[in-house]
Amino acid sequence: MAHLYDVLVIGAGVVGCSAARELSKYQLKIAVVEKGPDVCMETSSRNSAVLHAGYNNKPGTRMAKYCVEGNSTFDQIAAELDIPYKRTGKLVVGYTEDDRAKLESLKAQGEKNGIVGIEIVDRAFIDEKAPHVGGNFAMWSPTTAILSPFQFTYGMAENAADNGVEFYFDSEVTAIERDEEGIYTVKTASGEIRTRWVVNCAGLGSDKVSAMLGIDEYTLYPCRGEYYILDKRIGDMLPLPAYPVPNIKTGGLGIHLTPTLDGNIMVGPSTEYIDENDNYAATKGIMDMLIDDGSRIFPYLKKEYFIRNFAGIRPKLNPPSIGGFHDFVIERRDEIAPHAVNLVGIESPGLTSAVPISKEIVRLISEVEELKENPDFNPIRKRMVTFRDKSHEEQAKLIEENPDYGEVICRCETITKAEVLAAIRGPLGAKTMTGVKYRCRAMMGRCQGGYCQTRIAEILMEEKGIKPEELIYERRGSYIFTGEVR
Ligand SMILES: Cc1cc2nc3c(=O)[nH]c(=O)nc-3n(C[C@H](O)[C@H](O)[C@H](O)COP(=O)(O)OP(=O)(O)OC[C@H]3O[C@@H](n4cnc5c(N)ncnc54)[C@H](O)[C@@H]3O)c2cc1C
Repeated sequence: MAHLYDVLVIGAGVVGCSAARELSKYQLKIAVVEKGPDVCMETSSRNSAVLHAGYNNKPGTRMAKYCVEGNSTFDQIAAELDIPYKRTGKLVVGYTEDDRAKLESLKAQGEKNGIVGIEIVDRAFIDEKAPHVGGNFAMWSPTTAILSPFQFTYGMAENAADNGVEFYFDSEVTAIERDEEGIYTVKTASGEIRTRWVVNCAGLGSDKVSAMLGIDEYTLYPCRGEYYILDKRIGDMLPLPAYPVPNIKTGGLGIHLTPTLDGNIMVGPSTEYIDENDNYAATKGIMDMLIDDGSRIFPYLKKEYFIRNFAGIRPKLNPPSIGGFHDFVIERRDEIAPHAVNLVGIESPGLTSAVPISKEIVRLISEVEELKENPDFNPIRKRMVTFRDKSHEEQAKLIEENPDYGEVICRCETITKAEVLAAIRGPLGAKTMTGVKYRCRAMMGRCQGGYCQTRIAEILMEEKGIKPEELIYERRGSYIFTGEVR
């Protein structure tokens, strides 16, 4: 780590990886430093995975501007990085005249934000688009999409790495100093990094990194959102995201139902301010509430369909007493921390806004120094093969070329050994069980790894040359084996 970088990005979530990729379009020596063992380990992997249209945010805010822009420019990014997504459209359903008035004002807000095509529709329209969704009428948002947040983040990171960006994992930033020549020394859990610019994309840790830069006026309030994931058995019943009328007072979008690209349904998220920014617990009371609230717009919720729960944590800038949305902080504070771009409170719609946010980071840097284009920048990244999506002929050909495609490791999702190996051996490959899971979907099916988890553990240990006691599930300390039983 003795090098001097032009730019050091702190945090390898979707925003940090997108920033690194955007910066790699210029002649800059760039690194990303991440406290976890992999990219996409915090909020970027724990959300509703919706490419929002942009009607929920107040006109004139960064949130509104970047959300609309992120949505309308997504086709190009998805094509360059081979990111799976689907423009399903979305229904925000209402029942009462009060709901109708709120939907009308939401529509007006969306139109002010520049969204086209949103309309108030009747029950017949709901029946045509999503007959199993409740509601007497709805607001229809045609540009809303669902996407893979994992592939979005991996796509950004892999393409950035391909364009020369270096990644340091297991390297939590603990202190930042700036010397008289203006060079930052960033102290991390695995050594020091010297850099001319610092970009703070540390998500839930961004208030602390901001304070390390000397900008100590921000406090983040972690706000947990819990979800249920439903089995694919009922996936066909929900072809598009269905939301209730948002709670204008709390700013919450309400308990919604979102289909995933792979055919599951997510129910959630709840809204609960908590004390710790890494407490991803699922709680009985909230889980029961998800069923009650979710059933109102999708009456087919049954416990037998639930296969897993998870939680994400919003980095809220507003304390619980105020609630609602606070605009993204994206700033350069030259008087306190020259040559630093500081991002704090990148909550929803941060996934949708990631690319416009990273363009703003580049713009803020280019105001201070001239950036020269990188003539060798390659915007293209190819995603690993997904065996189950291929025709029988294509599958047979893959097996002929590589017999590991003939060995199914995860039965629920039909994930082959070749895909597990690709997840581990690929660019910025997986080192943890979760890393394998997020990259190729093994262990994401109905049995949640009951069948394949130990086989994947064996492959991962063999590939990495590590002992069972060294294998970690997700984050530091999450060991899954303690030693031999017999
Ligand atoms: C419940 C929920 C639902 C959401 N749904 C949507 C949605 O449908 N659509 C949408 O557009 N947005 C949604 N969002 C918002 C979106 O997920 C986030 O805005 C986005 O993922 C933020 O990305 P990030 O890169 O800023 O943060 P993160 O993904 O959290 O990445 C930050 C990284 O910084 C690292 N880090 C932290 N501190 C340090 C340190 N000191 N040193 C080194 N590394 C550090 C972390 O380990 C982490 O990997 C949702 C969020 C939540 C919580």
